[in-house]
Amino acid sequence: YMSFKKFALSAELLRSIQDAGYEKPTSIQNKAIPLILEGKDIMATAQTGTGKTACFTLPMLQHLQNNSLKNGKTGIRALVLTPTRELAEQVGSSVRTYGRYLSLRSTVIYGGVNINLQKSKLKRGVDVLVCTPGRLLDHIRQQTVDLSKVEIFILDEADRMLDMGFIHDIRQIMNVMPENQLRQNLLFSATFSDEIKQLAERLLNQPEWVQDEKR
Ligand code: AMP
Repeated sequence: YMSFKKFALSAELLRSIQDAGYEKPTSIQNKAIPLILEGKDIMATAQTGTGKTACFTLPMLQHLQNNSLKNGKTGIRALVLTPTRELAEQVGSSVRTYGRYLSLRSTVIYGGVNINLQKSKLKRGVDVLVCTPGRLLDHIRQQTVDLSKVEIFILDEADRMLDMGFIHDIRQIMNVMPENQLRQNLLFSATFSDEIKQLAERLLNQPEWVQDEKR
């Protein structure tokens, strides 16, 4: 984990990386982590298995640790959207793993399960929310989620989300968040179609493009 020390990551995050047994950053992590830590918007091409989840989760947690909410206010400060519940669970588990030495609350929300349990979790307060678009929209419509304090927004596997027909949901979700200039936006996708480029133009501010090496 020593070679992760070149990044501006806290002792707590470095410790969780050490626990995970990672020897060195992957290619996408080397390229993207410093840029995300600088606060840049990112458009990243990365397949599953490249370490992309840690690539956005570690700097996201660092941002939350650096900038605690003023006046003791609470609210959802980081939002990760994934196309499927399996991926949401995976990301949620990474947030718990890398964030185990930080006192942040995270939860995972998707459809097909009881909504009331999710409502009470949201009511108790969450810093990091990982979810699929459809169920998040249900919560938005029922006013059981407040996205007005989101500081970091991550779209994971954006191409799959578009393939699954989530574009309108994503647009509606973007409409209830602070303006995109007021938050950091990260878009991860395995492929780049014209549709993804259009979404990126809407979502990202002067993004840095990061590409994983072809394997
Ligand atoms: P992902 O591409 O995010 O689905 O990650 C694939 C797998 O790589 C996960 O099991 C991670 O725990 C693991 N991983 C992430 N970063 C590293 C790293 N720097 N070194 C070794 N394994 C890693």
